[in-house]
Amino acid sequence: MYWPDFNKGILLLVFALLILLGHLGWYVVNYESANQIWFSQSYHDERIFTTWCQIFLTAFVLLLALAFKGNAKFRHFMGWFIPLFFGLLLLYSAKSVGLYSPASMGGILNILLIGFVFYKPKVIYSIMVIVTLVFGAMCYFTAIGTLAYAPLFSDRLNQSDLYSNSFWLKSMLILYSPILITSALFFEILLRQWRNRDQKIEILSRIDGLTGVYNRRYLSEFLNKRHQKNFQKYSMILLDLDHFKKINDSYGHEAGDLVLRQVAHVLRHAVREQDKVGRFGGEEFSLVLADQDLAKALEIAERCRQAIEALEITLPDQSVLKVTASFGIATAQDGMSMDEVTRLADQALYKSKENGRNQVQFAVLA
Ligand code: GH3
Ligand code: MG
Ligand code: MG
Repeated sequence: MYWPDFNKGILLLVFALLILLGHLGWYVVNYESANQIWFSQSYHDERIFTTWCQIFLTAFVLLLALAFKGNAKFRHFMGWFIPLFFGLLLLYSAKSVGLYSPASMGGILNILLIGFVFYKPKVIYSIMVIVTLVFGAMCYFTAIGTLAYAPLFSDRLNQSDLYSNSFWLKSMLILYSPILITSALFFEILLRQWRNRDQKIEILSRIDGLTGVYNRRYLSEFLNKRHQKNFQKYSMILLDLDHFKKINDSYGHEAGDLVLRQVAHVLRHAVREQDKVGRFGGEEFSLVLADQDLAKALEIAERCRQAIEALEITLPDQSVLKVTASFGIATAQDGMSMDEVTRLADQALYKSKENGRNQVQFAVLA
């Protein structure tokens, strides 16, 4: 899906070779058996020859594509040409067993579906117009008798009750199954890519890239939920690293980033599973403690403060860095808004900074 059209084309050619070889095998194996009566003798020889021609032609296009893959203009052209070639190739095969036969119709539908999903509209529509015109012309010439319908099969088969002829039914199944299996594989690959991408997007949308803790947006969503309808109690701890600018200025931005990652790590291990650790931006973190009152929040904040204070961050040049943080706590009460709780925690944090940093303060409600 996310491959360049040229690479998809290469895959398509390999796919075509496998289908053609499968078809050739079916024609050859059956001709040596009692099933010979179901084939038109004269056309069968011709069809073996034309199938070989299709195989050689496909192999030639594949080799040509690989030989000149370094040329950007050629790659671009082949990206468009190969699906067209593929479509025409299979139309030719479809004609020999009957344009309206289940194998042909199923094959055409499968391939169209693959085309729509894997190619950009501009590419697939331009190809579809050409293939549809050729298909229409073939239908027309079959209708007026210029082109024989299902010439591979004998008159005896074509005039018999097809749906009760086991050879015809088997032929349809064998001719269609490589297309069906490969289409199923294509869609399996596609679905896997989609699922993976969905997961990645989901993670990226809620995780802070630098520290791996939740980002502010996710925390806001989480808090909003706790405030909606049935209010659920929680305590919020905001913390801001002390004199962090100095660390950046003295040791460089990368050292600063390392400190942020290590502090995030410490915080994640200091809280329970149901609590949320987030980065509020810059060097400010937030802990949301579900169903916890002020006393418990104070205990956890103090534990985090000590853990950060005890942290020894070894820089690549082996020098050891120490850091402290200031904390502010607010406990959410029913009737308060999320912004109010955040503002109260922020005020408490400011108080910690004012009082000399590296300490925990909490908001006193009026
Ligand atoms: P205070 O104790 O008053 O909080 O002082 P401070 O120096 O920590 O506060 P200030 O807000 O002045 O500085 C914060 C610094 O954090 C400024 C900015 O360069 C740095 N910073 C913000 N985001 C990042 C980041 O993602 N990586 C790094 N390395 N530094 C960051
Ligand atoms: Mg700071
Ligand atoms: Mg700050």
